[in-house]
Amino acid sequence: MSVEKTQKHISETEAAEVTPNTVDDNLTFADLGLDDRLLRGLAKMNFTKPTPVQAKSIPLALAGKDILAKARTGSGKTAAFMLPLIHKILAVKDSLPANSPEATATRGLVLVPTVELAGQVTAFTNNILLFCGRAVNVLNIAGKQNDKVQQPLLATQPDIIVATPSRILAQLKLNAVDLKTHFQTLVIDEADLVCNYDYQEDVKELLTFLPKIFQSFLMSATLGDDVDSLKQLVLRSPAILKMEDKTMDSSWDNLKQLYTICSETDKYLILYVLLKLKLLKGKCIIFVNSIERCYRLKLFLEQFSIPSVVLNSELPLNSRVHIVEEFNKGVYDYMIATDEGGLKGEKEEEEASVQELEAGDEEEKAEDEEDEDKEDEQDEDEEEDEEIDEIPEGEIEMEFDGSEGEDIEDGDDEMEAMMKGSDSEDDEDEASAMADIDGSAAVDSKKRKSSELETKAESATASTKSKKKSGPKKDQEYGVSRGIDFVNVAAVVNFDFPPTAKSYTHRVGRTARGGQMGTSLSFVVTAEEKEKSVKSSKILGSSGWVHMFGDDEQVFNRVVKQQEAAGCTINNYTIPMQQLAGFRYRMDDAMRAVTRGSIREARLKELKAEMLNSEKLKAHFEDKPKDLEFLRHDKTLHPTRVQPHMKHVPDYMMPKVQAVSTQKIGDTTPEGLGHITYKKKTQNSVRKARQGKGANKSGGKKNDPLKKFSFGGGGSKNNKGGKRQKTA
Ligand code: AMP
Repeated sequence: MSVEKTQKHISETEAAEVTPNTVDDNLTFADLGLDDRLLRGLAKMNFTKPTPVQAKSIPLALAGKDILAKARTGSGKTAAFMLPLIHKILAVKDSLPANSPEATATRGLVLVPTVELAGQVTAFTNNILLFCGRAVNVLNIAGKQNDKVQQPLLATQPDIIVATPSRILAQLKLNAVDLKTHFQTLVIDEADLVCNYDYQEDVKELLTFLPKIFQSFLMSATLGDDVDSLKQLVLRSPAILKMEDKTMDSSWDNLKQLYTICSETDKYLILYVLLKLKLLKGKCIIFVNSIERCYRLKLFLEQFSIPSVVLNSELPLNSRVHIVEEFNKGVYDYMIATDEGGLKGEKEEEEASVQELEAGDEEEKAEDEEDEDKEDEQDEDEEEDEEIDEIPEGEIEMEFDGSEGEDIEDGDDEMEAMMKGSDSEDDEDEASAMADIDGSAAVDSKKRKSSELETKAESATASTKSKKKSGPKKDQEYGVSRGIDFVNVAAVVNFDFPPTAKSYTHRVGRTARGGQMGTSLSFVVTAEEKEKSVKSSKILGSSGWVHMFGDDEQVFNRVVKQQEAAGCTINNYTIPMQQLAGFRYRMDDAMRAVTRGSIREARLKELKAEMLNSEKLKAHFEDKPKDLEFLRHDKTLHPTRVQPHMKHVPDYMMPKVQAVSTQKIGDTTPEGLGHITYKKKTQNSVRKARQGKGANKSGGKKNDPLKKFSFGGGGSKNNKGGKRQKTA
């Protein structure tokens, strides 16, 4: 179908607009007329009644309408498009005679912006399909798997394909998949993000491979101009659903937003105290603005025996997916994450709209200067990352042997894992990433047959300069602040203030979900403070502690305006810094222990460990949970010496600092605003603790769900439904 022709079919005026606020309390999935096998799957997942977006979209979709839905992650949007999509496939297959060749065909395509989301959608679909037997299968081809592995899988014509636009387009161009003959449904999930990732052109081209008539779903967090082009391209007389639902979605009413103005180095001090003294309770995502800072902060916290897990685009996909799963189950309390992928295009977009708004010659001039500064800062940022990426040749010995499943020909396991929705990371990719950071080509040549890889490995060793450029591979389709369904996150800390107001919204939207309370705490460093911090960091011998990039104040002011327009306030969280004086020596000690060299070493160590984990995770996706018993992602990296005395905080050091609770602003109960009080341990309890007998009943030893983990089963006996055992 030509794009022009498609556009002719669109008539927004014909569109039915639905703004559902409520759903009949008695409505069930059975009332929606869904296939019995799907109803059983939903019951198994404990989905008792449809969410508003599901209640409204499923009947319209089953009636054949195109759907444009404004629905965020958390609203139940995946089931809203996946249930009718599968229902239609089951209906067609049921109507065909047994062994009909027509039964085998790809009938549904789900486009997603990130590999993380592809994994999540596929895993969710496999759960729904539990009672469909072999009638319907789903294949995830997002990520950068080897074509040799992907193409035989595509040749089996999976019923549903989940992919990023670029990945499916590449396969369509290679004639690896036929989406013309029996195709029924196209879904574009997180459409606004698809636009942010500049996928519109891919989608446009992709449409030329689809038949003339098919049903489309466009799910988007916003319905603004950014998704207009996609709307025009793929929808015909759509039913427009503008969900105002706050029951499943991230609710701003339940979010307490806080900020604190501090210096660059004080960020470390405050975070250390808040976490160590549990003034910030519950599961917490800490956002930083670069991968290097991920490891810097992890190593810093390690000094005080505060374990954390890192999440960034450099880690292999299997590990990333697993880390999020484990975090959701409560295995880790603190996740240090970057959201670099999700920021693509946002900065430029936001700056452009700000420029439009802020008229006036003088202001324009000032902004131009600022833009130049920002570009310089960005360059510096990249330079810093490159610097960190510069790994001396042969620093790590590669230990790939045949048993690690690196062989390209040995694709069967990978195929199986992919069909199960694991979206197994491309071995070649991982190996080349290692070759890149390793700088040596000490990789089994048998496994490195592709000339592309050889070229990469050679260039990695060719010169320090080229090696410096290559560095560990970042996944361009990584995205963590959008689309990923984090559960039970009590707090989000913007350790580094986000570079755009939009990314602030996405980051803080990871908490206060599903009707729960949540808190966001943002560190804002003024330009003046940044300057001062540079001076003080010199004392520490490393400028790496100071995050000089971006203008926190400027973005913060934008965020405040945006939040005010939405009826929300960001309150000041005041920390009496003099109360923390006793901790400053420890902070300085810890900072001195974490050097650029130790960060580089930790980063390598982590990457190497995660690549091996990624191999083991294949077993995870093959349902061999035993293999995972000892697989943790938050192991201490300690390339620096951890000083045992830093683990404990003596009573005399206890500060009077306001706890960051999740209670609403204005709530003046002691928990909401009171000073933290410390119950002095009785001699008895101290003695017991020394003897190792006094482990506190609830918090002493946590059940580790990893030990009893089962894929897709929603947690162990002790951790039913993947729910967190310890609540915020
Ligand atoms: P989504 O918006 O598709 O990312 O879904 C967000 C979360 O809601 C996921 O954890 C789903 O498992 C869950 N969910 C979706 N539909 C329902 C439902 N009808 N009842 C309860 N939970 C649901």
